[in-house]
Amino acid sequence: MKPGDLFNCLEVDNKESDEISKTQALELWQEKVSGCRRCALWESCSRVVFGEGNPEAQLMLVGEAPGREEDKLGRPFVGRAGKLLDSILEMAGFSRPEVYIANVVKCRPPNNRNPLPEEIKACLPYLQGQINIIGPKIVVCLGAMASKTLIYPKAQISKIRGKWVNQESFRIMPTFHPAYLLRDPQKKKLVQQDFQEVEREYKAVTE
Ligand code: URA
Ligand code: SF4
Repeated sequence: MKPGDLFNCLEVDNKESDEISKTQALELWQEKVSGCRRCALWESCSRVVFGEGNPEAQLMLVGEAPGREEDKLGRPFVGRAGKLLDSILEMAGFSRPEVYIANVVKCRPPNNRNPLPEEIKACLPYLQGQINIIGPKIVVCLGAMASKTLIYPKAQISKIRGKWVNQESFRIMPTFHPAYLLRDPQKKKLVQQDFQEVEREYKAVTE
């Protein structure tokens, strides 16, 4: 990958042209995001939560936006929903260091309100950059917001969950958000099914 490929969605001066590793590319990208003021959320959050995980991951998980714990620690999915996500991943045979986890919006919205359309639009190039760099084979959209953003603006998560959506270079599995499962634990079974399907596909694409 060349640095220029990565920055093509934002205006960044980049004179280097040597090949760089995915780790280096992600570091450069994170530096760029850490000083971002493309929407008003930078003012109210404590820090940017860029995302974390394996730069070579074949499986990427995309949530909505950081919550209180994530904002405090600067890491995605470390609160109650994150603990539930960890156990769902484990049941499907995945460990956190093996995958990459990010959110559509990188700064916590005040009082965990839903991100506004203009905030999503402003922040989306950062997620697109992460996907470009990592090049996963599978992307799991956790919840309605990630699904509407990455699949189709009118997507209804209860209708589309569990069904693959094919993109040019990866497949997307939409499923419920772990925070929703905390409110409605009966839906856990469906999400476990979705992750079993992800596990099956993961084995098929990584063998
Ligand atoms: N919910 C999200 O969507 N993302 C996080 O990082 C934590 C909770
Ligand atoms: Fe920038 Fe995204 Fe934070 Fe808005 S939410 S300030 S676009 S990093």
